[in-house]
Amino acid sequence: MNKKDKILIIGAGLCGSLLALRLAQRGFKVAVFESRPDLRTVDISAGRSINLALSDRGLKALRLCGMEEKAREICIPMYGRLMHDKEGNTFSSNYSGRENEYINSISRGDLNAILLDEAEKHKNVTIHFNKKCKNVDIENNIAHFKDYNTKEEFSVEAAVIFGADGAGSSLRKSYISERKFLFSYSQNYLNHGYKELEIPADSSGKHQISKEHLHIWPRGDFMLIALPNMDGSFTVTLFLSYDEGEFNFENLTSEEKITEFFEKEFPDALALIPNIKQEFINNPTGPLGTIKCSPWSYKNKTLLIGDSSHAIVPFYGQGMNASFEDVFVLDEILNQDLGDWETVFKTYQKARKKDTDAIADLAIDNFHEMKDHVANPLFKEKRKIEMDLEKTFTTEYSSKYSLVTFNENIGYNEAMKKGRAQDKALLNLISGDEVHTHLDMTKEELKVILDKVTKETNDILQED
Ligand code: FAD
Repeated sequence: MNKKDKILIIGAGLCGSLLALRLAQRGFKVAVFESRPDLRTVDISAGRSINLALSDRGLKALRLCGMEEKAREICIPMYGRLMHDKEGNTFSSNYSGRENEYINSISRGDLNAILLDEAEKHKNVTIHFNKKCKNVDIENNIAHFKDYNTKEEFSVEAAVIFGADGAGSSLRKSYISERKFLFSYSQNYLNHGYKELEIPADSSGKHQISKEHLHIWPRGDFMLIALPNMDGSFTVTLFLSYDEGEFNFENLTSEEKITEFFEKEFPDALALIPNIKQEFINNPTGPLGTIKCSPWSYKNKTLLIGDSSHAIVPFYGQGMNASFEDVFVLDEILNQDLGDWETVFKTYQKARKKDTDAIADLAIDNFHEMKDHVANPLFKEKRKIEMDLEKTFTTEYSSKYSLVTFNENIGYNEAMKKGRAQDKALLNLISGDEVHTHLDMTKEELKVILDKVTKETNDILQED
């Protein structure tokens, strides 16, 4: 490994641009090739503003690269979920009992833009737009591209090639097609897809519903969610089956049926989405899938990073956070001075894969929690007790959600194991009659719960 090694990154999305910045900061020369036009100069959003939930793991990686403050300037804090029932009643559920723990709504385009700006400012980075990678000769470290403007094809040789080109990664496809090694790969789609819609700002540019919440309209088999944007609008996402149930993406094809569906299921949201029919018909329906694969690297030559190695469904709000955390973990491995890229890549995968597998599974669990369980009385009682425990015993207790989302010091795998054991212990307590639980517990009563949950959690973890 040499600082003069020419590094090529395929993809200047969220992960690729942060990785370029970090490697440049470490002294490497980095060339990034992105298939799309430069989103800072060309509107590639098709008029839609897409936002994401940024939380502590993502912020940790941004901090490493000196980007945390810039990102926070374009964040809207969301302190909890606000659930909407069919009658228009709402109830809230905080993300944490601790005041300083919240997630942030951030525009994907704006975040990508500040990362590109910072990366491009660095003398070690060059970014080339409209250059689509067609495939990679992984044995000879040559990536083959097509220029979208000139239609010319060209090749770039590099000492190391990173595939940060997302769920449809060209590098990952080359691992499969080149057949140089045993490559395990799985891709599992949900039967649900998603469609983005918009609640515009009111006439004075203000948010029409609380901007301090992530809004959820849980309906059992499907759901609507909404995250706030800085301009007063909300990006609304419908998660719905392609072909099952009374209403699905395949049968919602007429304006009448779309209106009927929203009037029946989401009347309060319908009143806030004036262009529902056009948006529903014109905006694409996207698939939701989980990709797992191994190995992520080939010799000392190539590495998959971000969604290209572990795309997940969006229900824990962790895909980008995990991709940013990849950069953080890789950086920690580089700090170990292991000597050559092959050892770095292998050590990185060993440290990281169990965590990205865990968040993939947690994200599927949360799909069911968000569309269904959040409205269940048992779940509500559990969340209330968890909030009280976090508030009262700030250092002793963290719920599974907090361990995953706010505890950047433990990996997703540890958070998953501990969180699941705690969930089991708490639900046993609530449904059993050993301890009487109710909604207004005193500190003493909560301490009894804390001790019992801690003991049972440890027992469960030891059994595993
Ligand atoms: P991408 O963001 O996909 O970037 C890949 C880049 O590579 C793109 O710029 C693309 O144009 C480029 N590219 C692709 N192919 C090529 C090629 N052949 N040649 C050159 N360039 C190429 N995550 C969260 O943390 N919080 C959330 O709230 C959240 N919400 C989500 C909601 C939805 C509906 C979806 C679908 C995802 C959500 N995610 C969320 C996940 C998040 O979007 C991804 O995990 C994240 O974008 C991964 O970053 P990436 O850079 O690895 O991939």
